Amino acid sequence: MYFTDKTIIYYNGEFVKASEASTNLYGQSLHYGYAVFEGIKSYETENGTKIFKAKEHYDRLRRSAELMYIPFEYTTEQLTALTYEVLERNGFTNAYVRPIVFCSPNMALSKGQQSYLAIEAWEWTGGYLANKMRIKTSSFQRPNPQAFKVEAKVSGHYVNSILACQEAKDAGYDEALVLDANSFVAESSGANVFYEKDGTLYTPAKGSILPGITRATVMDICRELDIPVVEKFFTPDEMRGADAAFFCGTAAEVVALDSLDDVPFTKDWEDSLSSIIQKAYQNLVLDKGLEEFKGKLQLTVNS
Ligand code: PMP
Repeated sequence: MYFTDKTIIYYNGEFVKASEASTNLYGQSLHYGYAVFEGIKSYETENGTKIFKAKEHYDRLRRSAELMYIPFEYTTEQLTALTYEVLERNGFTNAYVRPIVFCSPNMALSKGQQSYLAIEAWEWTGGYLANKMRIKTSSFQRPNPQAFKVEAKVSGHYVNSILACQEAKDAGYDEALVLDANSFVAESSGANVFYEKDGTLYTPAKGSILPGITRATVMDICRELDIPVVEKFFTPDEMRGADAAFFCGTAAEVVALDSLDDVPFTKDWEDSLSSIIQKAYQNLVLDKGLEEFKGKLQLTVNS
């Protein structure tokens, strides 16, 4: 259950009970998946409750609306302030925040006339993905960038994610590795992917992926810690049997992969650069710096 009788959401200019909010059933968002949303996390830190990368998430929400021709007037600053208020009114510290922008009643295949904003949140501690995931190459491809604006976070795109994720689960795996239309690795159903080989990290180049905020944060961490990162198109074959690999996303954070198509990643996770990145990411979400990792990396490289 995502809410109780007491849960408060922001909905169209007001703070209301989630249990009392309602919507019209005659709209493009419900019928056609024509809505944009974000997945954001807040953390209890030594400096109080902090929404991680609020600006990046709300800039992306506004950009997603623009790319979909959905009129949306809120500024990033207003959205951030409203989100802090939702958290405060619910007494949440560690939480997942789900803002969604959807359209007023209209069943035509024309652009949105007016949008509604809901900001929902629920308490969340720990990652959502089991640690050390067994993943499988999906038979589904990511949406074709000629058919969708893949860099926007659009509700309808997630039908593809559900198909891919469920297929992997039905086959006994934890998650799917989804390829693009050219059979290069793209991403997971809801996270980006990196693999590590001989001290370098590789991640799919932009084009068919949602360029994640966590992916950008991982690349920032690598820059800070002098870990080389290469963005390129690669096949699952190149990734299978690498030293280590991980998924990353706001909800997933940085989660280790155990194997791809039953071929294990070869290094002990704790000895990988990826595990340092995982810990460094934890520091950042908790509003701590990266100083301690700079020393650790030196030890790893020298040993
Ligand atoms: N790819 C997909 C398909 C996703 O749904 C997500 C989660 N938003 C990501 C990547 C990771 O994005 P972010 O790091 O911005 O959460």
